[in-house]
Amino acid sequence: MSSLVGVLGYPVAHSRSPAMMAAAFRELGLDWRYFRLPVPPSLFAETARALAASGYQGANVTIPHKLSALELADRATRAARAIGAANTLTLSDGRIEADNTDAGGILDALGDRIPDKVLVLGAGGAGRAAVWALREAGAEVFVWNRTPERATALAAEMGVRRVERPEPAELVLNATAVGMRGESDTHVRLGLEDGEPPGVLVDLVYGDRPTALARWASERGARVIDGREVLVRQGARSLARWTGMRAPVEAMREALERSV
Ligand code: NAP
Repeated sequence: MSSLVGVLGYPVAHSRSPAMMAAAFRELGLDWRYFRLPVPPSLFAETARALAASGYQGANVTIPHKLSALELADRATRAARAIGAANTLTLSDGRIEADNTDAGGILDALGDRIPDKVLVLGAGGAGRAAVWALREAGAEVFVWNRTPERATALAAEMGVRRVERPEPAELVLNATAVGMRGESDTHVRLGLEDGEPPGVLVDLVYGDRPTALARWASERGARVIDGREVLVRQGARSLARWTGMRAPVEAMREALERSV
């Protein structure tokens, strides 16, 4: 019988993970299947708890369930606990383990060159994962958020600095939702236009094409890491967790491109 995994979200019709994971399982020669699992918040906990009995080895978790996923887990990794959200559940021996692979995915996408000084824009779930990951990697992190109170709270909790407005940094990481609707002036909306362009820009927002922010930074000579690369890398970490195998990142990347 096939092993099953999937993505729990609401909605999940837009998710590119099924295409990416199917390609990975094919490449690895595994008889595994990955399903979209649209589940409303009221049914999340009971559905997640019932997955193991239905043959599931694990699941990715996306909006709006990342907090609930951490709450219902029997165990959680240090990353998931510190970030306060989980995007990966692993089901084994009747237990649910929660992890947050967004954090490691960001670091994997950056490779071994983590700049010293990092500005994270956004203090939502992705912002929390980015601040934690980059601080753990040894960078000096400062955080800006549209609603300053959230940045203040995050900065205090994670021992980083809050800034009132975006400051120049070697790495700028956009973890806000700005750009998701195809805005063409993200750098203006985020207050980046007057400062020096960063050496490295990570835009967690992704779409079918490079985002306007990615193009803006690239035209100014920045090394750009697209949200699609982070998506591949967080998925690769989830897959490795479930299967114990090294994820075929190139096959996943190609499948993501083809799924547009
Ligand atoms: P979230 O928890 O809802 O947080 C949204 C963030 O965006 C908050 O910081 C919010 O600021 C900010 N924001 C929203 N509208 C804004 C605006 N008009 N101007 C300035 N800031 C604004 O969402 P999330 O889960 O962190 O996700 C954020 C983005 O990251 C999304 O685009 C998501 O798709 C992307 N993401 C990508 C990956 C990947 O693998 N590539 C992984 C995770 C997330 P306030 O606090 O002021 O509302």
